[in-house]
Amino acid sequence: MRGTTDFIDQKREKPKEIDALERIATWKEYQKPFPEEKLKIQASRCMECGTPFCQMGELIGRQTSGCPLYNLIPEWNTLAAQGKWEEAYYRLLLTNNFPEFTSRACPAPCEGSCTAGLVSEPVTIKSIEKAIIDRAYKEGWVKPRIPLKRNGLKVAVVGSGPAGMAAADDLNQAGYDVTVFEKEDRFGGLLMYGIPNMKIEKQYVQRRIDLLQAEGIEFIANTEIGKDITLEELQETYDAVLLCIGAEKQREIDIPGRGLKGIYPAMEYLKTSTKHLLDNGGNGEPRITAKGKKVIVIGGGDTGADCVATAIRQGCKSVVQFGKHGELPKERPEHEPWPVNPSLFTLDYAYEETFKAFGEDPRKYYIQTTEFLGNEDDEVTGLLTVPFTDEPVAEKQLWKADLVLIAIGFEGVDPTKAAGAELQNGRIQTRPGSFQTNREGVFAAGDAKRGASLIVWAMQEGKKAAKEIELYLAQKTAAAQLPSV
Ligand SMILES: Cc1cc2nc3c(=O)[nH]c(=O)nc-3n(C[C@H](O)[C@H](O)[C@H](O)COP(=O)(O)OP(=O)(O)OC[C@H]3O[C@@H](n4cnc5c(N)ncnc54)[C@H](O)[C@@H]3O)c2cc1C
Ligand code: SF4
Repeated sequence: MRGTTDFIDQKREKPKEIDALERIATWKEYQKPFPEEKLKIQASRCMECGTPFCQMGELIGRQTSGCPLYNLIPEWNTLAAQGKWEEAYYRLLLTNNFPEFTSRACPAPCEGSCTAGLVSEPVTIKSIEKAIIDRAYKEGWVKPRIPLKRNGLKVAVVGSGPAGMAAADDLNQAGYDVTVFEKEDRFGGLLMYGIPNMKIEKQYVQRRIDLLQAEGIEFIANTEIGKDITLEELQETYDAVLLCIGAEKQREIDIPGRGLKGIYPAMEYLKTSTKHLLDNGGNGEPRITAKGKKVIVIGGGDTGADCVATAIRQGCKSVVQFGKHGELPKERPEHEPWPVNPSLFTLDYAYEETFKAFGEDPRKYYIQTTEFLGNEDDEVTGLLTVPFTDEPVAEKQLWKADLVLIAIGFEGVDPTKAAGAELQNGRIQTRPGSFQTNREGVFAAGDAKRGASLIVWAMQEGKKAAKEIELYLAQKTAAAQLPSV
């Protein structure tokens, strides 16, 4: 029975994880299922606040606070606490097209804004979301929803990441004929070829693509807009075009020795690893491998952490990750008061694994690389660094490495793959307060529009762009039906 003070009386608990040493021998997800009784207790910790900050989805400063999809969290928490899983699933579906992705990889800004966190610990919102959607698939509640009627209007979506998929889903359900064009050989954007398999297993991405196809969306792979088909050609065939082409251009390091062999952008490394896993079932070695190597990852963010976890699974000899900032605080800092989602120090999966495998945290702070060193065969052998400090530096530090991965962020849309769209500061420009670009009938959403971000923001943008396209086409159709005077 649910008690009104459960958020104080019951302790926050998260699902157990497979032991770090055991899981690094596989590419599988590492979270164990949460037993139903525990889930109900955790869901009952939700206070059902009158104003649920967890579902507000705002940027406060640069921090995402609350759920950008405006998930009806207290509502599905109540249903979960009562064991009404099917109802909870339909409630979740009202706002979230793909809970199987968000509940696995979202950093859960909802939890940082949870009111229970003010006096106790926040509700384990993300784990409850995962339990709802995993159960929905298991019970067969997730079925193709085939639109009963089509309105005869056609929309092209360019890019099959979470922004493009969410937009395509909403437009398809609203009766539009939707075609998704993707330049890669597989669909899903960074869900497929970015986020590693142990965070989102690729069969789950493919399962959703299969479902969207069964619902009537056409997916076309290996087709780059701007090269294989021009934007103008798309506009001749489709009533509206939505560009969800991501922010694929990575930041580079322009220092001596960058041309040496064995130095790669993080995304080339991660994509090669996942593609190898999918094409060869993990047999043999991918083109770029960390096996037996001393690995250095430059860049202290999440992409860098995914490189660390990938290198460990490939059997690296050692791995170190450089960050230019200091260690994050362990407690909510004063400058990030509730309901801001605080940036806190955590022992993320990759770091826990390194700790177990090598006995130390791979993260090294305040480090700037100044030069790569190589041998007579032009292979990288190490690098030199200085501390990120205003103090004069006495000596450079030497680090040995035979694989270096650069993960220092993204500049924005790759201009060579921009599909002919106008860019400003790496982003596709849209009209103020709108998703429509300067080109009539061409819209943009997701990382391509807002810069490299999160799955939830990409989905929110895809959904909002879909709504605007509906309005645009409704107005256009209505105008075409007006009698001429
Ligand atoms: C390594 C890594 C790990 C991440 N981990 C997380 C995480 O754990 N949680 C989280 O919330 N976010 C994470 N992110 C961020 C998240 O993946 C992105 O914010 C999100 O995928 C953006 O979605 P999108 O649809 O806008 O673009 P993308 O997912 O980048 O998809 C864009 C698609 O467009 C295609 N495309 C580009 N140009 C063309 C063209 N001209 N013609 C046809 N197709 C084209 C691309 O091939 C790609 O498939 C991570 C990002 C990276 C790089
Ligand atoms: S999508 Fe992310 S922010 Fe929204 S409820 Fe789920 S975990 Fe929280």
